[in-house]
Amino acid sequence: MRMLGVLGGMSWTSTAAYYRGLNLGVAARLGGHHSARLLVSSVDFDPVVHAQHDGDWDLATSVLTEAARGLRSGGAQAMLLATNTMHKVADAVEEAFGAPLLHIADPTADALQADGRTAVALLATRFTMEQDFYAGRLREHGLDVVVPDEADRETVHRVIYDELVHDVVRQESRTAYLGVIERLAERGADSLVLGCTEIGLLLGPDDGILPQYDTTALHVAAGVDWLCA
Ligand code: GLU
Repeated sequence: MRMLGVLGGMSWTSTAAYYRGLNLGVAARLGGHHSARLLVSSVDFDPVVHAQHDGDWDLATSVLTEAARGLRSGGAQAMLLATNTMHKVADAVEEAFGAPLLHIADPTADALQADGRTAVALLATRFTMEQDFYAGRLREHGLDVVVPDEADRETVHRVIYDELVHDVVRQESRTAYLGVIERLAERGADSLVLGCTEIGLLLGPDDGILPQYDTTALHVAAGVDWLCA
């Protein structure tokens, strides 16, 4: 089996889901006692969060490129960057890594298109909802992207950074998210992208009135495909 690098820690709560999902996926595919051949580099999230919120993307990039080089020198032949938000700097990370980075938006777009979705609601951090690096990539695949209004974006972002990345899951936050999803459906969305790798901790597949596409699960599945190819 080839070795897959996982650049995680952003946050550790979702990296744990990646680790579990990759191993479950490989075991289901190959049987026996097979497990995923992984090299995980888990960064300290605090300086990354400060850099993001200060708009110092160069600093955040330098943390990730150093980790990516470590993955490559440790023998990883492809990598997952286990966060949607930091795909803002995916090109620089891939260049530092020097081998393929499996972009999180691509398996997501493929799944949406396979199901004939056209108008996609996006729940994510403020950075991912408001900047073009992620929605733009979905649009390149021919998808319309609908984001929450300002007040709802604030709620979605706050719950991610104040709760989910700390492994805190609150029923009142789940209820708030369900309200956001209803308002997105009223605006014509036919599907929902969980565009932050922690949102799967808060919402189960049957929560909300829109069919869900969880980027963590779809990214993990792409990793399993690569490992088992
Ligand atoms: N894991 C989150 C994401 O998928 C947010 C944490 C981060 O800022 O990287 O965007």
